[in-house]
Amino acid sequence: MGLCGVLGWPVGHSRSPAMHEAGYAALGLDGWRYQLLPVPPELFEETVRALPGVGFVGANVTIPHKEAALALADEATDSACAIGAANTLTFAADGRIHADNTDAPGLIDALGRDPAGASVLVLGAGGSARAAVWALRDAGAADVMVWNRTRSRAERLCAELGGRVVEAPVAADILVHTTSVGLHGEDPFKQLPLGVDGLRGYPCVIDLVYGTAPTGLVIAARAAGAEVVDGLDVLVRQGARSFERWTGRPAPIGVLRAAARGDAA
Ligand code: NAP
Repeated sequence: MGLCGVLGWPVGHSRSPAMHEAGYAALGLDGWRYQLLPVPPELFEETVRALPGVGFVGANVTIPHKEAALALADEATDSACAIGAANTLTFAADGRIHADNTDAPGLIDALGRDPAGASVLVLGAGGSARAAVWALRDAGAADVMVWNRTRSRAERLCAELGGRVVEAPVAADILVHTTSVGLHGEDPFKQLPLGVDGLRGYPCVIDLVYGTAPTGLVIAARAAGAEVVDGLDVLVRQGARSFERWTGRPAPIGVLRAAARGDAA
């Protein structure tokens, strides 16, 4: 039996409880529960430190706590340290806190093929862009380019994690969209330096943004004939990595995916 949850502020919109609880049910993991843990920044550290004492074995971490999660951990994976953020905390029996970043391998899992040798354009330079750049470079992508509205942030990211800054979008094998544009249904082509026609330069498009309906970028990329990985695919794969770390069981990916998408079980 184990208690898990997702720490965020706000976090009420999270699909993670439905996803993980569906996984527990499918594997007959009686007594496992996954809870929403809405915690403001000023209470984050004391809340996390209290969780093992009340039966928690692990917690996912989302906005705005990913950097704080890494900072308070007793130990962390090399990827979490390089990215500078953790989305998965695991509590040992002796109370030690282990931090990992499953956003990075989750993106490669969702892609479903080896990006070694590929060229990639990453739009954005925030937290999820850092995970994407680290993951793609670690997986052997040959050329990782980063465009960001605020160029200095892209420069800092590339100085720390590798890749190169581009002034404007360049055609590539894979386009990874990591900005928050589209989160509220807005037209991505009004805010990003990319037109619908420009999408033809990208045979594969990964959009990290997700909501209750496909984003404008996902719809346009599908219409352009691209192979598309949407934000829910990536969410499912990062969640599956956390699920496996805590339960020690292979995650039932199809069950997690259906729950994340809100399909009737
Ligand atoms: P973040 O650290 O706050 O970074 C936001 C990024 O969006 C920055 O690069 C920012 O550029 C850019 N941006 C914001 N408004 C923009 C606009 N109007 N035009 C152009 N660029 C704009 O956020 P994050 O944690 O990386 O998250 C980004 C998105 O990814 C969110 O929608 C989040 O929900 C999603 N996400 C999904 C998953 C998943 O599992 N699917 C995981 C993590 C995140 P500036 O630097 O110029 O401000």
